[in-house]
Amino acid sequence: MLRDSFGRKVDYLRLSVTDRCDLRCVYCMPPEGIPLKPVSEILAYDELVRTVRVAVALGVRKVRITGGEPLVRRGIVPFVGRVARVRGVLDLGMTTNGTTLAEMAAPLREAGLSRVNVSLDTIRRDRYAEITRRDALPRVLSGIEAAVRAGLSPVKINVVLLHGLLPADVDDFLALAQEMPVEVRFIERMPIGCSPSEAFLSAVGVRDRILSLPGVRETRNGEPSSAVTYDVPGFAGKAGIISPVSRKFCERCNRLRVTADGRLRGCLFARETLDLRAVLRSGRGDEAVADLLRAAVHAKPEGHDLCASGDDPSAAEPMSRVGG
Ligand code: SAM
Ligand code: SF4
Repeated sequence: MLRDSFGRKVDYLRLSVTDRCDLRCVYCMPPEGIPLKPVSEILAYDELVRTVRVAVALGVRKVRITGGEPLVRRGIVPFVGRVARVRGVLDLGMTTNGTTLAEMAAPLREAGLSRVNVSLDTIRRDRYAEITRRDALPRVLSGIEAAVRAGLSPVKINVVLLHGLLPADVDDFLALAQEMPVEVRFIERMPIGCSPSEAFLSAVGVRDRILSLPGVRETRNGEPSSAVTYDVPGFAGKAGIISPVSRKFCERCNRLRVTADGRLRGCLFARETLDLRAVLRSGRGDEAVADLLRAAVHAKPEGHDLCASGDDPSAAEPMSRVGG
């Protein structure tokens, strides 16, 4: 079992499979996109599957595929199938912007994907186009329906809290959770820079709105999770809040990340990464890969402190490369 120096069990591997994306969300990428890594520097599917195999032998049980936008990488469905067939992977999820999920949800489910998180910050078409710089909202909404129909479960919708979010937007999302078996999770945006500037919108107001719903109940399933979930009578789905900033969840962090270009990262904000790609391509055996995974877990920091002088999130890599 992988345990870090602070006693936390690490059993969750997040793989960023590409740094490319078909959207340009204002909080993630500049309009022209980020400089992309050459394809030769991105881990091949064989290398990713080998990493999963070794990680599972060390006790990893949950795998999440992310990006960039994972669904823009060619061959993603067969890759999902290969990861799903690694014995010991008990839970295989994906985080996607959902723009192509309408066509891909069923094949992904058949390949062995269990669950999906769709990132969607508004259900107003004009605002969606402002945030993502693309007019893709109808496709995303069809994608969410297709994911539910395909039997992916749970289907979670990740809403990053941004300024300009209106109470009516929150209500639109709550209406979605009322009608469909989806879990809508409102997420505090991690501020770039340390002043809680205009970038940061706390989840407190949204929490109050959820708590005002008749009969609402907070549920905790005991899993190490960054979310607080609410059951609401009459809702087909659920609502949830993730507050990485105002309520840090580092003490329950069970994650290890592999960036698209093959570096191991124990924390989104850690400066230190370990060069997995070099080890994978060194001709050495799986024990060398296992040693590096152990070293990355050992190097996991106790926590981030986004507003202390030590950590500078603005120095952090783009989320699209690290995998959010
Ligand atoms: N492209 C896919 C997507 O958008 O779901 C997967 C990668 S994206 C980097 C993963 C998640 O990171 C998305 O839900 C996105 O909203 C979130 N994200 C990106 N930048 C963020 C930030 N500064 N703070 C909080 N979440 C962020
Ligand atoms: Fe693309 Fe996801 Fe970043 Fe938006 S958040 S630009 S969809 S990688």
